[in-house]
Amino acid sequence: MNMRDDPSILLPAATIAGTRYGASVLEAGNAIHDASTGEVIGWQEHADAAQVDAAVRAAHAALDAWRNRTPASRGEILRKIAELIAANRERLSSMQQKVSGKPPLEADTDVSDAIATFDYYAGLCADASHFAADTLTLPDDTVTGERRYEAVGVAALIVPWNFPMVTTAWKIAPALAAGCTAVLKPSELTSPVEHLLAEIMTAAGVPDGVVNIVNGGGEVGALLAAHPLVDKISFTGSTAIGRKVMQTAALDMKRVTLELGGKSALIVRADADIEHAVALAMGGAFTNAGQMCSATSRIIVHDDVYRKFVAALEAAVRALVVAPPHIGNVAMGPLVSHAQRARVQALVEQGVAGGATVAFSGALDAACAEGFFMAPVVIAEPDADNVLWTDEVFGPVACVKSFRTDDEAIALANDTRYGLVATVVTRDEDATRRYRHALRAGLVWINTPQLIFPQVCWGGLGLSGIGRELGVAGLRSYQELRHAITARG
Ligand code: NAD
Repeated sequence: MNMRDDPSILLPAATIAGTRYGASVLEAGNAIHDASTGEVIGWQEHADAAQVDAAVRAAHAALDAWRNRTPASRGEILRKIAELIAANRERLSSMQQKVSGKPPLEADTDVSDAIATFDYYAGLCADASHFAADTLTLPDDTVTGERRYEAVGVAALIVPWNFPMVTTAWKIAPALAAGCTAVLKPSELTSPVEHLLAEIMTAAGVPDGVVNIVNGGGEVGALLAAHPLVDKISFTGSTAIGRKVMQTAALDMKRVTLELGGKSALIVRADADIEHAVALAMGGAFTNAGQMCSATSRIIVHDDVYRKFVAALEAAVRALVVAPPHIGNVAMGPLVSHAQRARVQALVEQGVAGGATVAFSGALDAACAEGFFMAPVVIAEPDADNVLWTDEVFGPVACVKSFRTDDEAIALANDTRYGLVATVVTRDEDATRRYRHALRAGLVWINTPQLIFPQVCWGGLGLSGIGRELGVAGLRSYQELRHAITARG
């Protein structure tokens, strides 16, 4: 079905300085699906090279006026965006449930995260010290020194489909706070969410040209990243594409922030509260159907509690309600697309062919016949070189391995080139201190679910990326640090 004929959701190829532009080539675009039913619910047109160019030029033209405003006035607009997101919570949450199939609680959490992010950066804008020039004390009486943080310029923001509202808020809020203007390239699978956000930003008073959107897939992202008037690229996505983006950025020395993949560990020590450990393991592996960069899909359990833990995990996995968002008590939704499910299933087959054993799996609700659902799978004791232990799966697949000593657990957890997050479950304070430092990860959670606060930076080591989002560092990533030394008169 071609949704050009049924405009229930019809997204333009580009929104440039407040004007929507259609595709220049007939049929250049892609269908948008309801992930829970597989049904086509919309059509999104794709931008061409001229539209990408026009969007970047619009952002460039809007730059001076936006960065010359006071931070406080930019902050007022960010605060208004937060208020309007809150006022549109239902609309945003239900669109998120539709295109991704997220359970209501998860979709609602995404909305809350976006509100908190805009609120936080609105708060930073109210603190002039993050922007104002300050005087440096120098060991030379004949000169004065000045330090200032200035907007980098035009930011290209490229985001994936797994948390569209969240990853977009994490980029747009600090970029606008810093005084940058932006061109956003949402994922072609979930862009209706960002288009609602864009409406909200316009209603909140973001001037035309300050945030522009180009729609399309990787080719549109590549055109945007390569544009010579783009000063900064903030990319969230796979490590493979992150490499390409960094290579492109290198040509013009564009600034980059890369939030990439992960293969994170959850460690259950012998002293852990097993019920709590299972709850954290379930959340870490199966929230968003495992489509999380921060999925703790390598579960490492002490020998003494291994049997007890695995038995409780099996009971929890078998009881997990996998269903469309409208079914009561749903805990896990579908994968985002037919292609993503096929990719995950192929990886499981590859892992099993390579010697891994499926210990147990969950079940699908009867309402899952259509749509892109997949039951959760747990793999027991894969070899250290099995693809399911080494590679990011990005689906509802977790591996469990046992350990005897803390040294062994830390070595297993760190035996990856990624380094995004880690979780440890223990009641021992000495162990807590040791693991916090020994685990190679941007963020370590001890006995907590995957809590995220805008005050706490997000980002990884190694193949998980470069730079940090959120926090003051997230603002700084959209600023250039400049100095001046002036002779005293
Ligand atoms: P992806 O890398 O395929 O695509 C990400 C975005 O980049 C999409 O908008 C895509 O259209 C665009 N893109 C594709 N090719 C491009 C190119 N050559 N140049 C510029 N842009 C291009 O990733 P995905 O499948 O959409 O998302 C899943 C990946 O994202 C996973 O690896 C996951 O770990 C990662 N992710 C990381 C974080 C984090 O914060 N570290 C958060 C969410 C997702």
